[in-house]
Amino acid sequence: MKNISEVLEHVKTMGIAGHIRPDGDCVGSCMALYLYIKEYYPDIRADVYLDHPKPIFSHIDCIDEIKTEADGEKNYDLFVTCDVSSRDRLAVAGDYFETAKRTVCIDHHISNMGFAQVNHVRGEVSSACEVLYGLFDPEKVNRRVATAIYTGMVHDTGVFQYSSTSPETMRIAGELMKTGVDFSRIIDESFYEKTYIQNQVMGRVLAESIMLQDGKCIVGYMRKKDMDFYGVDGKDLDGIVSQLRLTRGVKVAIFLYEVETQTFKVSLRSNGKIDVSRIAVYFGGGGHKRAAGCDLQGSMYDVINNITAEIERQMLLEQEE
Ligand code: 5GP
Ligand code: MN
Repeated sequence: MKNISEVLEHVKTMGIAGHIRPDGDCVGSCMALYLYIKEYYPDIRADVYLDHPKPIFSHIDCIDEIKTEADGEKNYDLFVTCDVSSRDRLAVAGDYFETAKRTVCIDHHISNMGFAQVNHVRGEVSSACEVLYGLFDPEKVNRRVATAIYTGMVHDTGVFQYSSTSPETMRIAGELMKTGVDFSRIIDESFYEKTYIQNQVMGRVLAESIMLQDGKCIVGYMRKKDMDFYGVDGKDLDGIVSQLRLTRGVKVAIFLYEVETQTFKVSLRSNGKIDVSRIAVYFGGGGHKRAAGCDLQGSMYDVINNITAEIERQMLLEQEE
């Protein structure tokens, strides 16, 4: 696919959806597509489905039009997923994907095997928003659309820091800037800013973190009872694993929190030597070389042992390669 217009012919109804626990790239890409369609294809009736996006994304236009639940039977002419790496990660409107006449997947996860009829997946690109921008007419990207795309790019590149950031990423960011996006505010308020409680929780996780494998691996964790004590949920824990990764000498950072008793959400970050998507895929998850995740069952110590054993195995393989 070269341009999104290719899949919009004869489309009268369209659904757009992202992955569970949507991050900035997911919210940004879904909303950018939604705003673009609303603006330039007014004859298409579009709905956007996202699993309760965080309030930090309220600077994106029409965010209040998001549907957080499926509402009745629907047969969309077209259903587009953005930033969704596999079918089981599709949130809220999964049934509509099945009943849609045509399905399109726009993504950038190397672990994505292509689960839609049309798959536009570019594993080398830093964000789904950047992939999506490539499908738009550049002159049609107005400030509203640009704000959504810029937000996603900022979030998935760690403010243009991760190695996935390319000259093309920066060129596009420059084009978006020309539309007048409030880039300082987007970066500060949606990416860096934390609440007092979030900072306290991060401090606690860092203080209790453990170093393993001669300091090559660091593990942070949060139990359900501690999350309840602070009154936080998974959404409040963003950024902790990135901070763990910034420990000198660390090759892989692991952060896990208890979603429910004996079920953990695991986030993995790498400095680039170890491909953490391989580790996540091994445990039924997915992601990218430097950022991946999975869900694991068992006691906290089982989960830590299982994950770190696999990391150790990958490190040994890496040495052999
Ligand atoms: P995070 O650690 O921020 O939740 O996720 C990092 C990356 O890994 C994201 O690109 C996310 O899409 C992917 N990821 C996280 N958890 C899972 C999972 O359970 N399954 C899959 N397929 N990907 C995941
Ligand atoms: Mn993404």
